Amino acid sequence: MSDVRQHADDIHAQFSDHIDVDIEDVEERLTTLVDEYKVPMDEARRSVTNHYLEEAGLEREDISGGDSEAAKIEDVDEPEEWIDLTAKVIELWDPRSDSVAQVGLLGDPTGTIKFTKWAKSELPALEEGGVYELRNVVTDEYQGRYSVKLNSTTVIEELDEDIEVGNDTSEVEGALVDMQRGSGLIKRCPEDDCTRVLQNGRCNEHGEVEGEFDLRIKAVVDDGIDAHEVIFDKDATEELTGLSLEEAKEMAMDALDTTIVADEIREDIVGTYYHIEGPTFGRYVLADDVEELGGPADPEELLIKARSM
Ligand SMILES: [Zn+2]
Repeated sequence: MSDVRQHADDIHAQFSDHIDVDIEDVEERLTTLVDEYKVPMDEARRSVTNHYLEEAGLEREDISGGDSEAAKIEDVDEPEEWIDLTAKVIELWDPRSDSVAQVGLLGDPTGTIKFTKWAKSELPALEEGGVYELRNVVTDEYQGRYSVKLNSTTVIEELDEDIEVGNDTSEVEGALVDMQRGSGLIKRCPEDDCTRVLQNGRCNEHGEVEGEFDLRIKAVVDDGIDAHEVIFDKDATEELTGLSLEEAKEMAMDALDTTIVADEIREDIVGTYYHIEGPTFGRYVLADDVEELGGPADPEELLIKARSM
């Protein structure tokens, strides 16, 4: 089989479930682009594929990418790869669009990843807590975060087994160069399952509410190559600063100002080197295990760096 014929065969196979594509026609289109217009083969393939997508009224993710390979969640680091996953549905979220049937979080022993299932793909519903073999899902990337899309070519098989779900644990070692807004003594919405941080006494969802005090730090840690956003919850903040929630509340009441707590914490931690470990949640690392490192912290240099970020 010639090279062009092989490529034509691949494209033909991708569409065989959807429309009647003539393999001679595919080959002719490829040949014209490659021989007459001197288009490189991979570009010619994309162009011809797009032609048939348009003709069939399909989207890229509707057609099979050919060979999908068994993959682990932690290995997903490229968009538009076709893979098979064995994963547990950890959470289902409310879809924000009618075009989405289900959206949520999948997990396997190596980590977690968001998934989206299109409404028009008409796949069976996934249950929270269920373990599935998902064949032919396609990876996607948005702002550095990966997800997988279940599409009309995806095959879903429910498995009668449980799998352990691992954390994507991150380790960050470097200087804490900045503390972001929303750090220190904050108030959260008291409504069940809300816990949103209040802005001027208001919850985005529930309006004006009597907030509950909490302690939190959103910090930027620079490892010399990248800046990482790290969140310290109440326990981690108390441990990091030696300041308890009760003490922070007293401090704020004495000063009639809650921002004094953030100021105090900032003075204590910015410019210090830390080794931080914890699960990743979106773009954040949640500080689980924190160790202060004695380091060559040059406050002047760090400040210049922090300002430039
Ligand atoms: Zn709320």
